[in-house]
Amino acid sequence: MDVQISMETTFDDGTRRTHRLGDLSRPYRLTNSEALGLLLSDAKAIISQIQRAILTDQLEEVVAVNRTCSACGSTKSIHDYRTRVFDTAFGRFRHQVPRLKQCKCGVAAGYKCRGEQSPVAKIFPDRATPELCRLQTELGSRHSFREAARIMETFLPCAKQINTTVRNRLGRVAQSFIDREPAQISVDEDAQSPPLTVFLDGAHIRCRPEYQKRHLDVVVGKVESPNMCRRFGLVAQAGPSPSGQLRQDLLALGWDGQRPVTVISDGEPALPNLIRAAVDGRVRHILDWWHISMRVQHIENAVKGLLQTESFTGFPELFKRPAETLRWCLWHGKIMTAGTRLKLLMIDSGRVTTEDAAVRAAAARVEARCRELYTYLGNNWDALTNYGWRHRNGFSISSSRAEGCVDDIGNARMGKSRRMRWSPRGAHNVAVTRAAVLDGRLSVSHQEMAA
Ligand SMILES: [Zn+2]
Repeated sequence: MDVQISMETTFDDGTRRTHRLGDLSRPYRLTNSEALGLLLSDAKAIISQIQRAILTDQLEEVVAVNRTCSACGSTKSIHDYRTRVFDTAFGRFRHQVPRLKQCKCGVAAGYKCRGEQSPVAKIFPDRATPELCRLQTELGSRHSFREAARIMETFLPCAKQINTTVRNRLGRVAQSFIDREPAQISVDEDAQSPPLTVFLDGAHIRCRPEYQKRHLDVVVGKVESPNMCRRFGLVAQAGPSPSGQLRQDLLALGWDGQRPVTVISDGEPALPNLIRAAVDGRVRHILDWWHISMRVQHIENAVKGLLQTESFTGFPELFKRPAETLRWCLWHGKIMTAGTRLKLLMIDSGRVTTEDAAVRAAAARVEARCRELYTYLGNNWDALTNYGWRHRNGFSISSSRAEGCVDDIGNARMGKSRRMRWSPRGAHNVAVTRAAVLDGRLSVSHQEMAA
């Protein structure tokens, strides 16, 4: 059999035009599984033809409409033709587009212009369509730029993709996210801004050698309100104002600029400071429970190890009681008591003096673990809270949700196992766009921009 493919355009003024797009031949005698139905190569060719036909007709209509002066109704004359490139997801096309002279009546020429102008430049100032840029951004933030280029060429009749182009377009889209004005908040005196919690974590990625550093720190996390959440990723060294972007994310989730924001992170002080800068200090920092719990676990194991040492002759209760109640005290926010328990454990394990090396080593381990937790708590004294109360009342106590973001944003695309080296700017762009892609913000926001 033979298939003819044609397309019919109906313009706004009612005229019609038919395009012959091509033929498909499927001779019966050659029918086999390799020639059943439409093939990818056929589809790519046909889609490219459709795109060319639609683009041609659309440009023709744009020029025709713009040639008529909106003030006096006369036809503007053509100054010259310029070749314009239209890079789309379905092929790259070159079109001769006319530049029109200003109408003699001069009414419409109220604004600054040199006389002639292209009617297409107004609606399409770029070389690539926004859709193509978004597609390159999405794939570039999920895969390496080379891989993204390869995937696009596999499925689409697009022009030959070059990895640096994918990277540059991703950079432009990232910049548009960074430059965007923070959403205007409607100032409603009665409405309260929702309680916002920021979960923070960090990831290390390899740095390119010319930056004289081994690693870059990618800050990733999640902002949550009761009914919305938004991921973010950034490289603090990349831009002049990493906090400005965080502020935008908070405003987008309904923050009113006043209410304190809860930040949950591990003991790394740089992370909450970033938020502090974004919200002018209105931050309630809470130390992640999991990091405390893990250290308590180390003490419990060390004490168990000491008590199980065969030649241990001391009073087991001296070690057992404090170790058992430590977790309870910290969970219920009894920090002073927990501190005292830790001190006691340290003193008692320091007093274990025997000839037996195994007991001495076990006691030294208990002391070291206790000292570790004691220092950790001391450094984050202000960030301790009544975890039990928060947990019972449905508030978060752990930054584990940010750890998912570390995998999604940091490790999957930029992790050390990928053997890629990054510049701060490049890593920042990928982190920003990848967070947007994961949230499904990439397409929505651009439609908003167009509106
Ligand atoms: Zn006119």
